[in-house]
Amino acid sequence: MNNATRRNFLKDVGLGAAALSVAVEGVSASQTGQAGEASQTGHGQMPGRPGTGDPAGEGGTRPTNIMAIAAHPGDAFFAMGAPVAAQTDLGGQGVFLSLSLGEKGSRTIPPAHYGQMQREASERAAQTLGARALFLDYSDGEIPVNDEVKFAVCDVIREHKPGVIVTHWRGSWHKDHQACYSIVNDAVFYAGLPAITRKHPAHNVAKLFFADNWEDATDFVSDTYLDVSAVFDRWTQACAVFPMWRGENGFRYNDYYTSLAVERGCLSGFQHAVALMSASDQLTRRLHSL
Ligand SMILES: [Zn+2]
Repeated sequence: MNNATRRNFLKDVGLGAAALSVAVEGVSASQTGQAGEASQTGHGQMPGRPGTGDPAGEGGTRPTNIMAIAAHPGDAFFAMGAPVAAQTDLGGQGVFLSLSLGEKGSRTIPPAHYGQMQREASERAAQTLGARALFLDYSDGEIPVNDEVKFAVCDVIREHKPGVIVTHWRGSWHKDHQACYSIVNDAVFYAGLPAITRKHPAHNVAKLFFADNWEDATDFVSDTYLDVSAVFDRWTQACAVFPMWRGENGFRYNDYYTSLAVERGCLSGFQHAVALMSASDQLTRRLHSL
């Protein structure tokens, strides 16, 4: 696609996005640069299986609740926080669930102390974004993949009823991230099965997305661009309460994720955007909300 074609494509897509105010907007990005609406309906949703339809189930008029599920708090807020901020800004409920405190992430601070710092930072950051921070307190680096943790996540999903979940993509070099991917996929399945009796009734998660995380880049293919321009500043303020955001643990998270939001914005025609990979086959889409 040459520059002129891309400009036309972005212009066309922008008009399409502006014309649609419902939660699900679809465009197709074909090789020819033509843009059009993609139907998001017509797929029956099996219990426990993320659907491809309108997460609100009522024509998209209700803000969609969102849950970020990450191995570590840094992943939850840096790689998944902007989509959560975008949904809470629209009035949806936001929950950050970390399977561990990421307590072994500091080179200089003992895990017990660092874990407490991570917990407090998560709670402050979540408050800034109008969301809640929850933890399962598995040991950092040792998150197990078994039915105990899958049902624990299932229970949190059933309690908070997110329409959208954002989590890790499986193509990661970090074992905890790989574990989280497997755990969440099965937890979503368990959560949606009415025949599985838990404290809370079954809940179908309408959409499952994988986050654009520098540690999970193997075979990551973004197919959705979410406009986070309106919440960009608030999201960076929230992230800034974590010492590791400033690069104190060796990686410049601040520079990486703020630059990435600019780069993804350039590609999608938004000021700032987050790229996501959907669990189901979908055409490339540009969204103002999830
Ligand atoms: Zn991590």
